[in-house]
Amino acid sequence: AMRHLPYFCRGEVVKGFGRGSKELGIPTANFSEQVVESFPSDISTGIYYGWACVGNGDVHKMVLSIGWNPFYKNIKKSVETHIIHTFKEDFYGEILSIVITGYIRPEKNFDSLAALISAIQEDIEEAKRQLDLPEHLKLKEDNFFHQPEGKIVNNH
Ligand code: ADP
Ligand code: MG
Repeated sequence: AMRHLPYFCRGEVVKGFGRGSKELGIPTANFSEQVVESFPSDISTGIYYGWACVGNGDVHKMVLSIGWNPFYKNIKKSVETHIIHTFKEDFYGEILSIVITGYIRPEKNFDSLAALISAIQEDIEEAKRQLDLPEHLKLKEDNFFHQPEGKIVNNH
């Protein structure tokens, strides 16, 4: 799972498939199919953490899920970023830049919504702790986040 890390990626935020993440208090910004296809095909599904920035805004901590996309009958992957920050507005259509720096756990099925939410809360706490470590913190300042707006660079 760590072989491709750190992984830099930039792309447009598109409408997801309405799993109701926002209703759970954990909105996830979905990348387009084209961006997902540009990921290494052997990258493990599961929960990761790293840094994210919308447009040329501030860089925030994030947790990310790489999972199987139910919209495509689970033959294609989906990549969804939950930014650990409260935004005033949605940002569909904007360019999201991320660097994935670490891996937390594989995908799991949960017996209840409550169990799912508490697992995600733990993932968020784990991401926050890990990202404060110097080796992860240094990527927050990476030049990748200060490149001209709109320039799309995958696998930089
Ligand atoms: P969808 O199924 O369209 O992805 P979600 O319920 O997952 O819907 O909500 C995702 C949208 O919420 C994002 O595309 C973005 O515009 C908005 N959003 C607001 N705050 C955040 C955040 N902290 N992290 C990710 N997305 C956010
Ligand atoms: Mg989503």
